[in-house]
Amino acid sequence: MSDYNFNTLAVHAGAKPDPTTGARTTPIYQTTSFVFDDADHAASLFGLEAFGNIYTRITNPTTAVLEERVAALEGGVAALAVASGHAAQMIAFHTLMSPGDHFVAATQLYGGSITQFSHSFKKFDWHVDWADATDPATIKKAIGPKTKAVFIESMANPSGRVMDIAAIAAIAHEAGVPLIVDNTLASPYLIRPIEHGADIVIHSATKFLGGHGNSMGGVIVDAGKFDWSKGGKFPTLTEPTGSYNGLKIFETFGAISFAIACRVLGLRDLGPAISPFNAFMIITGIETLPLRMQRHCDNALTVATFLKNHPKVSWVSYSGLADDPSHKLQQKYAPKGAGALLTFGVKGGYEAGKKLVNTIELLSHLANLGDTRSLVIHPASTTHRQLTDEQKIAAGAGPDVVRLSIGIEDVADITKALDKALG
Ligand SMILES: *Cc1c(COP(=O)(O)O)cnc(C)c1O
Repeated sequence: MSDYNFNTLAVHAGAKPDPTTGARTTPIYQTTSFVFDDADHAASLFGLEAFGNIYTRITNPTTAVLEERVAALEGGVAALAVASGHAAQMIAFHTLMSPGDHFVAATQLYGGSITQFSHSFKKFDWHVDWADATDPATIKKAIGPKTKAVFIESMANPSGRVMDIAAIAAIAHEAGVPLIVDNTLASPYLIRPIEHGADIVIHSATKFLGGHGNSMGGVIVDAGKFDWSKGGKFPTLTEPTGSYNGLKIFETFGAISFAIACRVLGLRDLGPAISPFNAFMIITGIETLPLRMQRHCDNALTVATFLKNHPKVSWVSYSGLADDPSHKLQQKYAPKGAGALLTFGVKGGYEAGKKLVNTIELLSHLANLGDTRSLVIHPASTTHRQLTDEQKIAAGAGPDVVRLSIGIEDVADITKALDKALG
């Protein structure tokens, strides 16, 4: 299957006709549990000596298709699908971190991730050091002896800044830690972080993978390249596992160890499983990912250009524009397009931004992105509200910023609606 090209993988990877019924689309295996062949079979599944389905918190055949498909599209060796993007982040860090450990994260992140890392993770005694990822040298400076990972977004939410993944991967690897890339905004259609050195890719499948604003999901992809034994930094992967009779995960599973540990320890014990129904919806969404993503990009570039020339707009941030500070990196990492998200400043600041979201037609005022529909939000009062003023500005979510997630409608209707609301 991995010999096929991207569009083919988007439709086929991981799926085949159902062996019992011949059903061509992936059935929704809406079951909690799976009957064992016999007592020995049950024992071997529980002991991780054989792969198979036990209970839908840990594996499910519908979810397995989603996992294989995203792994194929990202060029990874294995993947784990979970209930949301935030669940994916929690489980990935649960595998890497011990109490007292640190990781370095970009200041340019989705507001919810900044909140998760700086508040909830503290309860596990996991600590984050922030760095300006547009200046990789600051990441290097933030790395210390207890650092266990570097975390960035390939294209940042909401600023759209494109990060120099290869340069940041080199810094992480020099320090003996993996690079985790949240690839939600780009999707593997635009950027495949593993090709540039990422070790772990995270998705909020809620966004472009599902693509229709109807199902929550998250995915962790394991690139299969990191040597977890080097430096003794990752005991979860290398030391005997108490809950599997002393099994050593890296020794036993090799390249797919990170994905295995996330599943059989993190997901098993923390529990945020995706429902088979949502996995089915996201699989269906992925089949049209390449078509949607290209239309998202083409429409967003037209909208960005339109806004740039609009008298009521003070600035536009979209890496697809030739004078954008991320344009060079966008051309390098995402030559097919700069994604669906753009931010701009309305003349008249906070009040003018509020008026825009209150009066605009066609675009939905809501907290999501990566929908077929065009969406608008004011991050400072919503998605990035929990941040300090300083964090808001660092994340690209200052008081005058309006964020658009451009959909796949006719672009003339989108620019017309914006023109009218900007009045
Ligand atoms: C939405 C989002 C998340 C969180 O994902 P959920 O599915 O909402 O939990 C993480 N990262 C980015 C970039 C996002 O846009």
